[in-house]
Amino acid sequence: MEKRSEKNAKLYRPNIRKMILFGGISLFVILFVLGFLFLLPRINLKGKGVMTINIHEPYQEPGYQAQAFFKDVKDQVKIKSNVNVDEMGTYEVIYQMKINGFSVKAVRTVKVADLEAPEITLTGDSLSYVCKGGEYEEVGYTAVDNVDGDLTSKVEIEKKKDKVIYRVSDQAGNETEVERKIIEGDKSAPSIQLGEGENDFAFVGESYQDPGYQATDNCDGDITANVSVEGSVDTNQVGDYKLTYKVVDQAGNESQMVRTVRVREKGAPGTIYLTFDDGPHNGTTEAILDILKEEGVKATFFVTGSGPDSLIKREYEEGHTVGLHTSSHNYATLYASVDSYFADLQAVHDRVYNLTGYDSRIIRFPGGSSNTISKHYQVGIMSTLTQEVLNRGYQYYDWNITSGDAGEAKSADEVYQRVISSLSLEKVNMVLMHDTKTYTKDALRRIIAYGKENGYTFAPITIETAMVRQRVNN
Ligand SMILES: [Zn+2]
Repeated sequence: MEKRSEKNAKLYRPNIRKMILFGGISLFVILFVLGFLFLLPRINLKGKGVMTINIHEPYQEPGYQAQAFFKDVKDQVKIKSNVNVDEMGTYEVIYQMKINGFSVKAVRTVKVADLEAPEITLTGDSLSYVCKGGEYEEVGYTAVDNVDGDLTSKVEIEKKKDKVIYRVSDQAGNETEVERKIIEGDKSAPSIQLGEGENDFAFVGESYQDPGYQATDNCDGDITANVSVEGSVDTNQVGDYKLTYKVVDQAGNESQMVRTVRVREKGAPGTIYLTFDDGPHNGTTEAILDILKEEGVKATFFVTGSGPDSLIKREYEEGHTVGLHTSSHNYATLYASVDSYFADLQAVHDRVYNLTGYDSRIIRFPGGSSNTISKHYQVGIMSTLTQEVLNRGYQYYDWNITSGDAGEAKSADEVYQRVISSLSLEKVNMVLMHDTKTYTKDALRRIIAYGKENGYTFAPITIETAMVRQRVNN
């Protein structure tokens, strides 16, 4: 029994060995295959395999990894893409590499779609007031979509008692909704219109008549009758007088406007204001100053940014008025905008001030206030400037007699004839001349002699001299 069992045990033993051997080999093979698979080249995509991006927005590669035989082989990957972010559609990004005879590929799907809702822009405030008992009147709105463009006509409006709802959808189905709140009440102040505008004029010794005004309110209508006027104009004295017009609507919103009335000396009839533009100018200005000095006549020079400083000093020191004509005298610059006009005027103002200490407030517009050339640079600029110079403390002087020395007159004699034939003892004579012209210099002594012989007086313009204004045409 014992032997037999021993024999049996002997017989059984090799089977266990085989099993262990077989198991070991199997394990080895499995590990080998797994390891081999792990070692094989492969590409792993980061991020989503199917991506959706908004049209026109750049495709941003989320990244990828590539490995083979324990090595990073990312630089072996070649990428092919047909993505067009400017056109909606489904595209592919293909990642490929060939390594040791193995070819590996990964694909990412990219969908370009309209993910953006249209935008609605409300004109005015998103909070709107309506007068009591009144209805909201649409002020306006626009709708624009990134893909469909202008969708304003597609906006649907729902009016409720306390709000207006605006809705619109684009073709991709993105929806936008905005609201405008409606509140009953009057938040708008009345408006006051002054006849003749904010600047008016009167002569010493003559009575002043208010040119009138009107007040209207968005809810109350015409409330002119409620306007109160404060202030008064004393036409016995030269000065700037302010009249304040005030009005309040039923909701308590107040408005006011101020009118400045400039009371000036009318100037004695038969006065001649000799005015010289565009200087100073070497040669001619000296000669003109010499004649004026010899004749004991004071005049007005509207100077620019050019010519010698010494002549501006001399004009001032010899008792003439130094007026401002602008620094550049360049229409295209001056009349391009209110700001560029005043920048140029300030430049010549400062030149005169620095040379003489005189803060000149007396100006002449190049081309005169009636010029039409300024239309080429800005429509309506003269209407604005003629008011704005007054608001900024200047007075402007056009002319009522032209010597023709800017080009029409062909000789000194012609300049003389043009001037004397226009003079009148019944009016103030504002004579336009140019101290840059030799004809003027040569005609000046005869003009002065004629004036003296015929009962005229000569005077320089001062801030008390009433403005001589032409009709504004732009
Ligand atoms: Zn000029």
